[in-house]
Amino acid sequence: MAEKIIVTGGAGYIGSHTCVELVKAGYDPVIIDNFSNSEPYIVSRIEELAGQKISLYEGDCADPALLREVLGSSDQIKGVIHFAAFKAVGESSQLPLKYYRNNLLSTIELLEALAENKVSNMVFSSSCTVYGQPDILPVTEETPQKPAESPYGRTKQMCEDIIHDFIKSGAEIKAAALRYFNPIGAHQSGLIGELPRGIPNNLVPYITQTAAGLRDKLTVFGNDYDTPDGTCIRDYIHVVDLARAHVAAINFLNGVGETNFYETINVGTGNGNSVQEVIDTFEKVNDLNLSYEIGPRRPGDVIKTYADVTKSRKLLNWQAEYDLAEALRDSWNWQKKLKK
Ligand code: UDP
Repeated sequence: MAEKIIVTGGAGYIGSHTCVELVKAGYDPVIIDNFSNSEPYIVSRIEELAGQKISLYEGDCADPALLREVLGSSDQIKGVIHFAAFKAVGESSQLPLKYYRNNLLSTIELLEALAENKVSNMVFSSSCTVYGQPDILPVTEETPQKPAESPYGRTKQMCEDIIHDFIKSGAEIKAAALRYFNPIGAHQSGLIGELPRGIPNNLVPYITQTAAGLRDKLTVFGNDYDTPDGTCIRDYIHVVDLARAHVAAINFLNGVGETNFYETINVGTGNGNSVQEVIDTFEKVNDLNLSYEIGPRRPGDVIKTYADVTKSRKLLNWQAEYDLAEALRDSWNWQKKLKK
């Protein structure tokens, strides 16, 4: 019988791609999602891509009764990938308690439920935001953390600490916190992808919605930074690569002999690309012209960041396969299908 992995937020952007890759790797994902920022139809799309039925528990993963029910449903549950969280950076400054309550409580309840049920493997969805504005590039896992720029970023730092403290206290849990850089792209089928609600905050969904005519034009937030073309630099990673990193992390934790284990691991491509390069590549690979203008800097923006990927290669035996052009082609393919 296939090993079951709980995927909180499994209907979301990264969660949905991870469920598909888990099935491809021989695992059986069990989704917990309250659809607060995802759509139920995505679960049928996952089933279509996976070629099998996927168990779904609709509800909040900060609800201990629900966690008990899911964990009690099978003795084949061997791990959890914890994606479910609020993630809008701007909103988190306006509604900090909403972010602290949701993101911290779900992690705490999940840890307690895992320990009670002797489910030992946990992959936590963290972010390169924990590094803030890094002084040295590429960013390694040892790069000192800076104060987070937003309550959202602080919840990621705090959840990492909560998990680590619990493990240090002796809990029999093996956890990997994956610090993602910038996920973009979509499944090549165009069946699943990112579904931002309202005006997108992130660069690539804003670009694809502009190209689709849903937005007038993209504003580039500043081109007077100390970078080769003056625009900010990020490490953009294809969501399918990122999903595979989660499967690799589950495989890795399965092989860890200790019962009490914690690691942080960067997940990126190792390459930095500027906003201007993203725009130029998007236009070229999709053969279209994007309407954009240069605007003022966005307060709090990190100027330059990209991952040192040595640790993910070594520990997870994983590395990104897709490049920026492929990711931007897949983002546009998904957006075009959405329009119909
Ligand atoms: N960006 C931009 N216009 C937008 C959205 C983002 O120029 O409408 C820039 C932003 O300043 C940053 C990069 O695109 O340099 C990535 O921004 P995003 O919000 O996607 O990711 P994050 O800043 O959280 O890494």
